[in-house]
Amino acid sequence: MSLLVVGSMALDTIETPFGKAEYTLGGSATFLSTSASYFINDIKLVGVVGYDFPQKEIDFLQSRGIDTAGVEILKDVKTFHWHGKYHYDMNTRDSITTELNALGVFDPKIPDDYKACEYICLGNIDPNIQQKVIKQISNPQIVMCDTMNFWIEGMRDEVVKTLGLVDVLVINDSEARLLTGEYNLITAYRKMREMGPKVIVIKKGEHGAYLFTDDAIFSAPAYPLEQVFDPTGAGDTFAGGMLGWLCKSKSLTEDNLKLSVIYGSTMASLCVEEFSLEGIRNLSQDKIRDRFNAFKRLTHFESLEI
Ligand code: AMP
Repeated sequence: MSLLVVGSMALDTIETPFGKAEYTLGGSATFLSTSASYFINDIKLVGVVGYDFPQKEIDFLQSRGIDTAGVEILKDVKTFHWHGKYHYDMNTRDSITTELNALGVFDPKIPDDYKACEYICLGNIDPNIQQKVIKQISNPQIVMCDTMNFWIEGMRDEVVKTLGLVDVLVINDSEARLLTGEYNLITAYRKMREMGPKVIVIKKGEHGAYLFTDDAIFSAPAYPLEQVFDPTGAGDTFAGGMLGWLCKSKSLTEDNLKLSVIYGSTMASLCVEEFSLEGIRNLSQDKIRDRFNAFKRLTHFESLEI
């Protein structure tokens, strides 16, 4: 199975109560593809960067086995730059600046050998671009998408149009509320379900995630960490782990969807332990397995007769 990832590639400036990092590697596609690369080795990346994007980061993505032939490098414009500032509780953040730069002129052309990908992951990016990508793929089995307040506030109708074309939506709680106007997450799910996606995951930061299908609701915790350094990219890392697992296991049963949410949560918990992408830059399979097993112990209980 091959996975096509499209989304933003960025240089981020991040401020958290623990420090600041400037022009560090970021972007939804970067986190998504890196996270998924721990599960599968046929990932094709589509994105755009400017002249200031470090070659060593392209080399890094390639070292993870990610095909970067679909990454366009524009010579006369800078890379997308996002500056985010987290509050003390780390669940809320402000976007201080969003300089689209290369992303603002992005017109993705999917290379011919990418068009047969079975799994499609549309990272947080302009919803028009998400639609253009879906339309260029021959016969996708699963299309997953993510979005963000920036696009919901600025292009809600287009976001809704994208949702009509996808199977799985991964969204965080505040974005789900913004999109639907509903505070209650079950009501918000029902409204988003009417827009298209059959499977919806609502992420709740340090409070875990809900998986909704037509038949069930599954609740996964977030791994309790004493040190959360930087939540940037946790959502994309979650989605990359989830879809990476689905792609590897080739099964969409309810049990496997639940397992994919735990793999997503496992990867996200490793991501937030360090700044920027550092938490998932160089993971061993042992480390991922240990965290996955810790998740299992966290949620396991025996039922006893009373
Ligand atoms: P997450 O924390 O998972 O929501 O994703 C954080 C990443 O999203 C950062 O690395 C940013 O570069 C990227 N990002 C921020 N704003 C946008 C936007 N408007 N469109 C696309 N990507 C964005």
